[in-house]
Amino acid sequence: MLEDARSLLREVGVAPAELVAVGVSVPGPLDRERGVILAPPNLPGWHDVPLRDVLEAGLGVPVRLENDANAAALAEWRFGAGRGFDDLVYLTMSTGVGAGLVLGGRLYAGASGNAGELGHLSVEWEGEPCVCGQRGCLEAYVGGAAWTRRLRTCTPGGSRVAVLAGAAGASPEHVVVAAGEGDPFACEEIERFNRYLVRGLAAAVFAFAPQAIVLGTIAAAAGERLCLEPVRAALAQRVWPALGRGVSIRAAELGERLPELAGLCVAFPED
Ligand SMILES: [Zn+2]
Repeated sequence: MLEDARSLLREVGVAPAELVAVGVSVPGPLDRERGVILAPPNLPGWHDVPLRDVLEAGLGVPVRLENDANAAALAEWRFGAGRGFDDLVYLTMSTGVGAGLVLGGRLYAGASGNAGELGHLSVEWEGEPCVCGQRGCLEAYVGGAAWTRRLRTCTPGGSRVAVLAGAAGASPEHVVVAAGEGDPFACEEIERFNRYLVRGLAAAVFAFAPQAIVLGTIAAAAGERLCLEPVRAALAQRVWPALGRGVSIRAAELGERLPELAGLCVAFPED
């Protein structure tokens, strides 16, 4: 990381001494106070890594760490689909399921800095094992890695998903494309994804009564017709109208700009 940072600085012609702050978006859970990565389920071997101290020593500027989903929530809130909302739930389904909470106009990180792990809400109490060690987590159903593992075992040979995937093996992006073309297997898979997503979102709506829910990656790629519209309709059936009526369910907007803007939000949390 230090090597990359230094070569990036050389590329843009900035001397390390000109840096003001560095923000790093890393997989949780973290010890934010000490700047230590604790035990990320999707990053094996990165246990108790004092990343902040290592980077500060190497770059000579203040370094801040933030849970990657919290950092993404901040970026969507300040620059993307969450602009203008004071109470916002952000949920992204990439490798795992990351979530971040903006409540009352600020990031809500909880007592330990690790609040908002909605990906590990149980949506099936005795359900599928999750990489985090628990069972039945939302991530075990809608997370990209878990869904990919499932697709490798259940994708019918010769289906549109299998054809699109070819030798590489099926992944959620093939399901999204095939469902867009009306492939029955892909449509069933998307319906299953939506069903589990709604279980998690219903819990979030009851807990936080957000003004908006911003959905990233798979949900954003699937878009209005395949995901957002059916999710809105199903969610409305499962939460009290007083809580659900006003919730705006939206696709994340930042796309490939997310990582750099998330890093900026971590480096300059108050600006
Ligand atoms: Zn889990």
